[in-house]
Amino acid sequence: MGIRIYQLADELDLENKELIDILQELDIDINSHMSTIEEDTADIVRDMFEEEETEEESLENVIEVEDVLTVKELGEELDVKPNKLITELINMGTMATINQDLDMETMEELAAEYGYQIKEVEGEDEEEDIYGLVNDYEDKEEDLELRPPVVTVMGHVDHGKTTLLDAIRKTNVTEGEAGGITQHIGAYQVEVNDQKVTFLDTPGHEAFTSMRARGAQATDVAIIIVAADDGVMPQTVEAINHAQAAEVPIIVAVNKIDKPNAQPEKVKQELTEHGLVVEEWGGDTVTVPISALKQQNLDELLEMVLLTAEMEELKANPNRPANGVIVEAELDRGRGPVATALVKNGTLNIGDYIVAGSAHGRVRAMIDDHGQRVEKAGPATPVEVLGLSDVPSAGDILEVMPSGTNARDIAEEREEEKRARELVDHKTAVNLDDLFEQ
Ligand code: GDP
Ligand code: MG
Repeated sequence: MGIRIYQLADELDLENKELIDILQELDIDINSHMSTIEEDTADIVRDMFEEEETEEESLENVIEVEDVLTVKELGEELDVKPNKLITELINMGTMATINQDLDMETMEELAAEYGYQIKEVEGEDEEEDIYGLVNDYEDKEEDLELRPPVVTVMGHVDHGKTTLLDAIRKTNVTEGEAGGITQHIGAYQVEVNDQKVTFLDTPGHEAFTSMRARGAQATDVAIIIVAADDGVMPQTVEAINHAQAAEVPIIVAVNKIDKPNAQPEKVKQELTEHGLVVEEWGGDTVTVPISALKQQNLDELLEMVLLTAEMEELKANPNRPANGVIVEAELDRGRGPVATALVKNGTLNIGDYIVAGSAHGRVRAMIDDHGQRVEKAGPATPVEVLGLSDVPSAGDILEVMPSGTNARDIAEEREEEKRARELVDHKTAVNLDDLFEQ
């Protein structure tokens, strides 16, 4: 049967892309084995990484340090009595006790005396911690109410994602509004059979992954769009992998069926090769043939979304301080920082003190996806938020805080941490530009 690429990537702590690159270098035919590879092949890759690790571990005289060590701890690492280190420190002009923390520089100096090197390593999960949720409200079962599903459309470039999102939105906009609705919007809500569905236009698979990494997974159902004249392509496979890794149910929209060269059956065949067996063939993958351009069969697609969502029993507690995720944000000349947020839990109100990444402030105004000012926004509602001190990043968590001071303190702490990390490693700086790159 083999192992799925995203699973192996997870196991080896790699991005899917990185693993795929490695497989390519090993001359493993990726087109036909994109989402699964043979166990034997997986073992070869595993071995490569194991060797690397043991090599690193066996590097003699290197001490890996995540944080500061005390005199006693460093002594243990160097296999030297702490008293000896204390004497050494006195010689260096420092009075130290056995439980005293040593800074990097001092540790390096001491270690060098004994022929050791100190290597600073980054602790795990650090990033999630500082940008994660601050408040830990426990929702009681009886406080939970059904909420609308949040749907993300993903797929290969030019397969019709934007056309589909626009078409769905248009069906829900009144005549008078239509003119003003042409501008891009990061998230919107529509009504299907009197039920609300929220659509999230994540700027790319990157954003999807980054939200998930921050514990801000916002998607309940993934629509994977595949053009019937083009078939399953690399980014389709990536999208499938992302959705599966996030354990989000998938609906496949087979698009462009109006085209004379459309081959929907071929798409189904290719999906099977990637582990998605369609319902007609005994699997559980729902596919809906559509034309986003001609607006064909969109109702059926939306009904499938509702059906899938119903099975998830999506609930939230509207009666508590809100948290959510930033979908996009920008600096508006007249209005200052404007952030499109998706409320995940609770209700966001005008006047709430909020923190979003390293921005903070007080909700001055909120504007819904129809351009109307609103006073409050409940679970699964997308809303533009005005009043932040700064422009947060897509994927940042937004959270209501008990006071303004509180929000500011946390934002400042994050800002400091962010700067410190940027100095250490440029890679840790996630900014909007990175996320919007496709
Ligand atoms: P995206 O890159 O996935 O956002 O793709 P777009 O929505 O921008 O669509 C790419 C191209 O395919 C555009 O020229 C669309 O007009 C066209 N397109 C999208 N959906 C359909 C469809 O259902 N039928 C046909 N014939 N063309 C489509
Ligand atoms: Mg597009």
